[in-house]
Amino acid sequence: KTLLKKTINKIKSESLASVDWAGTTYEWSEDVNRVLRDTFKLNSFRPKQLSAINSTLSGQHALVVMPTGAGKSLCYQLPALIKPGLTIVISPLISLMEDQIRSLTARKIPAKLVTSTSPREEITAVLNLLKDKITPIKLLYVTPERLAKSKRFMANLQQCYAGGRLQRIAIDEVHCCSQWGHDFRPDYKFLGILSSMFPNVPILGLTATATAHVLNDVQKILNIQGCLVIKSTFNRPNLFYKILEKPTSQEECITILEKLLKYRYKGESGIIYTNSIKDSEDLAEELRKRGLKVGCYHAHMEADSRRKVHSKWHEKYYQAIVATVAFGMGIDKPDVRFIIHHTISKSMENYYQESGRAGRDGKRAECVTLYRMQDIFKVSTMVFSSAGNMDNLYGMIKYCLNGKYCRRQLIAEHFEEDWGYADCNKMCDVCSNPCSILREISLENHCKTLSYILDKAESKDTKLTAQKLLSAWFLTGPVNLRHKGKEPNFSRNLAEDVIAFLLTEGYLVEDFHFTAYSTISYIKKGPNMDSVNDVDFSLKMTVRKYSDFDLDRPAPRDLESEVHSNDKVKEKKPEKCKKMSSPIIEPKAKK
Ligand code: ADP
Ligand code: MG
Ligand code: ZN
Repeated sequence: KTLLKKTINKIKSESLASVDWAGTTYEWSEDVNRVLRDTFKLNSFRPKQLSAINSTLSGQHALVVMPTGAGKSLCYQLPALIKPGLTIVISPLISLMEDQIRSLTARKIPAKLVTSTSPREEITAVLNLLKDKITPIKLLYVTPERLAKSKRFMANLQQCYAGGRLQRIAIDEVHCCSQWGHDFRPDYKFLGILSSMFPNVPILGLTATATAHVLNDVQKILNIQGCLVIKSTFNRPNLFYKILEKPTSQEECITILEKLLKYRYKGESGIIYTNSIKDSEDLAEELRKRGLKVGCYHAHMEADSRRKVHSKWHEKYYQAIVATVAFGMGIDKPDVRFIIHHTISKSMENYYQESGRAGRDGKRAECVTLYRMQDIFKVSTMVFSSAGNMDNLYGMIKYCLNGKYCRRQLIAEHFEEDWGYADCNKMCDVCSNPCSILREISLENHCKTLSYILDKAESKDTKLTAQKLLSAWFLTGPVNLRHKGKEPNFSRNLAEDVIAFLLTEGYLVEDFHFTAYSTISYIKKGPNMDSVNDVDFSLKMTVRKYSDFDLDRPAPRDLESEVHSNDKVKEKKPEKCKKMSSPIIEPKAKK
């Protein structure tokens, strides 16, 4: 039965997808254009906006997937004005809704907001408005908890529906339904009842999360399986992606940040992301000691001081904010020129969202990630509770270890999209550096050595952290853990890459232990280590090299000059790089 249902859904979504939704001959097409021009004061639609608008006006359930800043709000704000009745907008963040109400009001579009903390009179007014047959209000914004927790609200909404006045339900940040998304909100689960409670009312979900996994989950939760999915490209051609080697000492690391802020990004605005509250405070303080104007932002700060930091950054008093991921949704600054990840993100999804806050104005901006093996454990010890989290983290690590493929291509794979090599325009560290001499190392014997060390440690009831494993490998650790072979003929930095690579490929696994104060990640043999003694066992790793990156001189300003200057000084990329097609999916040993 489920198979039949799945097949029907598949056929349904395929036939829906085959319709040209971007047409301009619908009965509402003229009105749509007029409202775009006269009310929203915009000249034209951005990619896929018109498709989203036509499909929802046709009464279809749809999911709109567009990167942040692409213009998802218009996809429900504009249709709301085309037909009579009320559009309910469900959104998780009050500040985002307040912004929208402000801009709608400025355009004389009647809209209201109700949250679980709204004053009593306002709630009563909104409840009455749902029953009111002649209300002028076109858009009503509510938080999911308002819906989930207020029976009265739902009862009145039902009356609105019964009176034929519930035009559409828009659910912003719809990935919040799914535990697979990066931002799960329990109250979003409640939205599953909407499609059966209000049959024939089109649901329009909007998100910047594009993975099939999350999108399928969202459809299931909302009970709109097989609905139309409208997806625009996730490529951000104006963002330059770069991995920078993170030094071992905090001191050196701060020097890099200092240089970047003082020279490369002089006078520009940006964000420095880190993964703990303490780190964000420490880093901000160190940078201030070096004369930089930076703010600090994290979840443990009072709402009021958070607002102050945010606006000081907006006004360019602060050059940068050192923040945890708490500094996220609702950032609406178009001229963010740099995003520095002092610590890696916990997934590619998060990385894309965080780095995507740069360059909303379409001008060149840079996304620089400081990576070093040790940071894997900083993150893993925080997220290890689910296997999905670990997979996500290792996806991020693969991106950092990559020295072979265009970074855009890796991001595109993540979003199940094909941007192709040509779309990068040398706007990543791999493409802007010639890749003619890629070094590969064979890991077969190294795997055997590591396996030997781990076996030996286990027989002595000793647990090894990655650092201790490295020491034993380099014959510098405790004598009783040493192997009989030679130390590796490469640097410790490269050895760190090997350990990280083996983790992402399942040859090593992390094993978490708890002390009273912290969680420690030890290294154990992974399932794939069993195959190292097979006769045909082979494992290669491409050695990445860090490309030059000028910390002391201003970053290129425009897209053209960057592409140009690289053309002049660097040889053309050899043919063979272009042809490598499937970057992430490399042959894996059997599990
Ligand atoms: P998202 O929700 O996808 O992150 P928003 O809806 O907040 O994006 O829109 C981002 C910005 O893009 C807003 O300032 C909005 O006015 C602008 N915008 C949206 N659609 C268009 C368009 N067709 N033409 C020009 N600007 C647009
Ligand atoms: Mg939005
Ligand atoms: Zn590239």
